[in-house]
Amino acid sequence: MTDRYAVIGHPIAHSQSPRIHSLFAQATGQAMAYTAIEAPLDGFADTVRSFMAEGGRGVNVTLPFKLQAFQIATDPMESARLAGAANALRFEGDRIRAENFDGVGLVRDIQHNLAMPLAGRRVLICGAGGATRGALLPLAQCRPAVLAVANRTADTAHQLRRDFAARIDLQTGGYDSLPGETFDVVINATSTGLSQTPLPLPAGLFASGALAYEMVYGKGLTPFLRQAQAAGVTRLADGVGMLVEQAAEAFDWWRGVRPATAPVIQQLTVSLA
Ligand code: NAP
Repeated sequence: MTDRYAVIGHPIAHSQSPRIHSLFAQATGQAMAYTAIEAPLDGFADTVRSFMAEGGRGVNVTLPFKLQAFQIATDPMESARLAGAANALRFEGDRIRAENFDGVGLVRDIQHNLAMPLAGRRVLICGAGGATRGALLPLAQCRPAVLAVANRTADTAHQLRRDFAARIDLQTGGYDSLPGETFDVVINATSTGLSQTPLPLPAGLFASGALAYEMVYGKGLTPFLRQAQAAGVTRLADGVGMLVEQAAEAFDWWRGVRPATAPVIQQLTVSLA
């Protein structure tokens, strides 16, 4: 029988995960089926259990269910525990193992695909939601000189500093704490990439040669990327590489085979011009 996997979210029609995983399966010769399932907003756990009962082997989890995916896990891995959220589940009998590969995917995209080593760099993440929580430890493990989080609600950023205090020396604040600071890598992990809302970023924020990274993907130049471009930044990236890299981590975790990501990123890339 073909092994079955799925991505669960609400809504889910926009998800690129079925396309990415079928490209991986083709390229690696894995016999597997991967579908998209829209769970009712109040029915995530039931949807997962039905899929398990039908013989499903694992799922990816996207908005708005990443916190619930962590909560139903019997065996959350460290990445999921630290983020308080999971984006990949693996079923072993009645056990549900949970991982959060978003942060590893982001770091691999920045360091490997975009050739920007993070060691010794000044790194700023805008936003303090689930994506930032997942990214903090993998970013910190690259030993940046500074790791800072700015958020519209400054208290949420300060809460992150407290939650991660044992592992990471985080600099946190609102956007009003940024004037006078300069960063080599600025990551937009807010949901503003999906709207036309710019962030209140001060002049002089981007260092010479900086990378501006927008986690949202497939939207072309978002307000954040336009701001960076207007500030003279030429290294602009969106989150398509992060998406494909986290998918490759999940694929490897499920199947024990690491797919090549570059050809898939190339197929999914939308021009930032
Ligand atoms: P989330 O938990 O809902 O957090 C949203 C963040 O955006 C919060 O920090 C929020 O600030 C901030 N925000 C919302 N509207 C804002 C505005 N008008 N001005 C300033 N800040 C605003 O979302 P998430 O799960 O962290 O995801 C963040 C983004 O990353 C999403 O767009 C998601 O699609 C993307 N993402 C991409 C990938 C990928 O593979 N490429 C993976 C994960 C996530 P407050 O705390 O002040 O409300």
